[in-house]
Amino acid sequence: AVVTRFAPSPTGFLHIGGARTALFNYLFAKANGGAFTLRIEDTDQKRSTEEAIDAILSGMRWLGLDWDGDEVYQSARAQRHAEVAQALLESGAAYRCYASAEELAEMREQARAEKRPIRYDGRWRDRDPSEAPAGAPFTVRIKAPRSGETTIDDAVQGRVTVPNQELDDFILLRSDGTPTYMLAVVVDDHDMGVTHVIRGDDHLNNAFRQKVIIEAMDWALPTWAHIPLIHGQDGAKLSKRHGALGVEAYRDMGFLPEALENYLLRLGWGHGDEDILDRTRATDLFSLKGIGRNPARFDMKKLENLNGHYIRAADDSRLAGVAVPMVETELGRSLTAGERELLLRTIPELKPRAKTINELADGAMFLFRTRPLAMDEKASALLEKDGGDLIGKAHAVLTEASEWEATALGARLKELAEREGVGLGKVAQPLRAALTGRTVSPGVFEMLELLGREESLARINDRLP
Ligand code: GLU
Repeated sequence: AVVTRFAPSPTGFLHIGGARTALFNYLFAKANGGAFTLRIEDTDQKRSTEEAIDAILSGMRWLGLDWDGDEVYQSARAQRHAEVAQALLESGAAYRCYASAEELAEMREQARAEKRPIRYDGRWRDRDPSEAPAGAPFTVRIKAPRSGETTIDDAVQGRVTVPNQELDDFILLRSDGTPTYMLAVVVDDHDMGVTHVIRGDDHLNNAFRQKVIIEAMDWALPTWAHIPLIHGQDGAKLSKRHGALGVEAYRDMGFLPEALENYLLRLGWGHGDEDILDRTRATDLFSLKGIGRNPARFDMKKLENLNGHYIRAADDSRLAGVAVPMVETELGRSLTAGERELLLRTIPELKPRAKTINELADGAMFLFRTRPLAMDEKASALLEKDGGDLIGKAHAVLTEASEWEATALGARLKELAEREGVGLGKVAQPLRAALTGRTVSPGVFEMLELLGREESLARINDRLP
């Protein structure tokens, strides 16, 4: 059965590159009826933080990337990593290296001077440990092949080969007995039964070294799929300035998780020209074959458009639930039950246009502002141009309305425009400004109804000369 894993190092938040890697692993597992596992690679105790672990777990939960079983903490497995290093020592596939820090520094210096890549020269490969001073510290190094080449059949990159001369006898266990990343990953993947390793192509070079360890242990090779990293619009590797933020930043900007998921899926994976793929469809279709070889470019506009799509498809009550805290933060107070109800009733008017829930919440703010409303520049200009003329007449007409309902109010305002020989916009625009303080908003008739007779008339009255 297929087992995949997402193996983040908790040294920062769950950024969108990591989220996409997690998503691909999740979808591939689900598409094949397999398991998706999570391993926190926290062996670098100095750089790993509790906060980063929380950010990763909550980011995954928000995206609905639920992992099977408990997450594995790599640091808890140090004993097992050391055992495997011991087994490799015993089989002769690894050896103790007693080279001192000075010796290694010298080796590096020499390589630099001769402009060669820095590589350990294997000086303890065939020496007997008894030649080392008693009690001297040692590292455990793999005996990497020295001739021939190592080949990987990568599901995305194709067949990739390196000459073995490039693989030096890298360290498995440090002199303090802690495992290196290279050893820990191989042991954990094996013990977790991982069959497919899908990760960023910045790890492709590690795969050759990992293969050496796997073969030395006589374990089964996983299928590797190294996916191109995400780049910014300018083609450079994605960085913060391009939007390489944590997924929680996207949540806070008002993106829906299913929109971010759909966007990340399409970023580097495709099925024909289908752009809208929800979880069910993606699980049906996902395959490693669809992963492109070229770096994908992050495009905020596309993400916003997808988000707009998912906002329109979402339940009003769910959207209101997400918008309420945003509105409350902006207002600096809690909404009453009545105000929440009002917000909910306004959602249908706001959602056709909103690209983010922040935008939607912003569009709802007019409901809760206190009089006299602050006018933005354009709204003031509009009202000034009208000079109280049409808005005054609209006030009179609306005051007489017996029924405070959008269609009926609309009919009255249309009549007024006809009588005055102007387009409806001439009447609606200053009204909109008076009601919201802005020049863009949902339909004016609906807003009149939502605000109610008293509040609407008072807001209009505030604008009369
Ligand atoms: N912990 C590594 C990282 O966060 C990933 C290791 C792997 O996928 O093999 O980059």
